[in-house]
Parts: sequence; C-alpha cells; structure tokens
Amino acid sequence: MIYLDFAASTPLLPSVQKELFRAFEEEYSNPSSAHKLGRSSSEKIENVRDIIANSIGAYKSEIIFTSGASESNNLAIKGYVLANKDKGKHIITSLIEHKCILSICNFLEKEYGYEITYISPQKNGIIDAQDVISAMREDTVLVSIMHVNNELGSIQPISAIGQACFERDIKFHVDAAQSFKKIPIDVDKLNIDMLSLSAHKIYGPKGIGALYIRDLRETRIQPVIHGAGQEYGLRGGTLATPLILGFGAAVEDQTIEDSFEEVNKINSLVRDKVIEIGGSFNTPEINFIPHILNIRLPNFDSSHFVANSDFLCSQGSACSSMNIEMSYVLREIGVTYENSIKSLRLSLDYNSKYDLILPIFKFIIEG
Ligand SMILES: *Cc1c(COP(=O)(O)O)cnc(C)c1O
Repeated sequence: MIYLDFAASTPLLPSVQKELFRAFEEEYSNPSSAHKLGRSSSEKIENVRDIIANSIGAYKSEIIFTSGASESNNLAIKGYVLANKDKGKHIITSLIEHKCILSICNFLEKEYGYEITYISPQKNGIIDAQDVISAMREDTVLVSIMHVNNELGSIQPISAIGQACFERDIKFHVDAAQSFKKIPIDVDKLNIDMLSLSAHKIYGPKGIGALYIRDLRETRIQPVIHGAGQEYGLRGGTLATPLILGFGAAVEDQTIEDSFEEVNKINSLVRDKVIEIGGSFNTPEINFIPHILNIRLPNFDSSHFVANSDFLCSQGSACSSMNIEMSYVLREIGVTYENSIKSLRLSLDYNSKYDLILPIFKFIIEG
C-alpha cells in the first residue's frame, strides 16, 4: 500500500510515538491535582502551551487545548459571536471552508438569525481578498477564512484580509489545520485574532488540537463545553495529558519543515507526469502548498480507484451510499460533475517517493 492521504490524517512521527507512549504510562494523574505527580504533568502541559505559542508568535496565555480543529472552530466562531451579539450579527466566510465551518455558520443562521456572506473562490481555488473586504459591513462581527484549503492546497490571502479586519475592528478567525508547520504563521504579522490547529495533521495523535485567542483574558468568549473551570473556564474537561505531550512533540519535531523542498520537487515531477498523460489540475498553479495535489485524469473513475487500489488517496467526489455526491469545493471552483469523477486528491509528505507514486499513472493508463 502507498499512502497518499496525508491531508486527511498522518501517522505518528517516531518522536511523537515515544513521548505519547511514555506519557500514557507515566502521566496518569489528573494535571489539575495539587500533588507532585499532578504538578509535574501540569508543568509539562504548560511547556507545550509555550511551544505552540512560540510556533505562531503568540503568548502561552492565549492557547487553549481542544479535541482538534473542529472543536477549535466551534469555540472560535460560536464562542465569540454568541458572547458578542451586541456587536452585530453578520459573519463573512467562504464557500470552500472545511465542512465544519459551514455547519457552524448554518447553525448560527438557523438558530440565532445570523446573516452569513459566503465568498465564492476564484476558478483556481484562491479567494480574492478584495471580495472579502467588499463584503465587510458595520455589523460584521467576524470573518473566518481558512489558511490552506484541504482539498486543493490553495493558500488564501490571510495577510490582506487580516489587515482589513484590523482596520475595521472585525475579529478574524483562521483555520490553519492544513498550513501549520508547512508555511510560516505569525499571528501578529497576519493580524489573526483566532487560529485553529489540529495535532493529527502534523503527525501528532488524533483527538487533540488547540485554539489561539488573541488577548484571551480580555475577549468575551462563550464556552462550548462548560466544565469545572479548566482552560480559563473556556473548555471544561480533564486535560488529556498524553495527547497534549504528544502534540507538543509533533510541534517540536522539524521533519515537516525540513522536507518542504523535497516535497516541492516531488510535486513538480508529478505535475509533469499528469500533463504528459493528458491530465490537468484542480489545484492552483500558484499559491499552493506542494503537499496537496488535486488532479484530473482522462477516462478515469476516481471512486472506483479509491475503493479498489493500493494507492490510498481521496476522490474528488464523495460517495454517500447509492448516489455519488460531488465535492462542494470542486463544484464551487467550477468543476463539472463529469470532471469531478475524474478527480483525485494526492497528498504527499516527507516520506513520499516519486518512484513509488509513478506506478499510479501506469495503473490509471492501463485501467
Ligand atoms: C482536518 C481538518 C479539520 C478537522 O480537524 P480535526 O482535528 O479532525 O477536528 C478542520 N479543518 C481543516 C482545514 C482540516 O484539514
């Protein structure tokens, strides 16, 4: 089997596995406990908070641990807007956000009467910052735009949008699950107010993530999970010590950063091959991360391929029981239903080898 689905989830790095297994065995006490073992775990957790904060140019007092990017997105968006209803009820996001952002916005619209402006991407999967800026109003309370799209790998103009939000005193949330450690993030330079992270997209364990909240103590946020006062009262539940320490090990490990150029090389070799066999791209030609490559191939059925081949990747259309439902991301960038069936998302990592990917095309050509 050749795994080419790293955008969906990643295996553990050896350094992460080691720390995770050690912590599962040794760090079993409640980190809120006042005794020695609790305090020792708590110190290690605070160290991870510091590591995460440093990796995005934040203070450790601005980092909250969650169960992953989905929960971080919920806490950021619902938590902020529901605690700040007096500031307006208009939210701006895009049509190609991760499903969970769209679900949250839909919930706020239906249950709380928020008005949502959904920005259309350009044909190349990149959102025009000017479109977002033009949609800003007096009553806009929050803008939420992802850093890197998970199906296309397109990098969004976060800096320009952040600057415009800053000038208008609008909060800016960014889902950085796909960009973290692949492209640099500095929350001050990019004017980001809230940032969602997930450990299992960076070779950490599943079930843990973080939310950065600028000036957390001065920001009104409604908890999504009410609890016993953990995480500044914003996220109840006993802290998952082993998962947090595993997350920290993943953030400290530089494998992703160190392999960027190598992944870039493989990406361009694969692109050349796709062109050679008459294929094309859903992924943009500029402003993309090399780890995600969404391709379109002639005479190809991606759902059959994904279900049956030993190359593990994602299809451009998502099968739901009997009917094949097209990816909304591909639809929004103008891909037809017929072309979505021919689409395949390959996601690469530091261990990917061009020679091992090449047979995929032989397989596709020969059927
Ligand atoms: C994977 C992913 C998520 C969900 O993250 P979880 O930690 O699994 O909840 C959210 N947004 C993006 C862009 C993702 O790629």
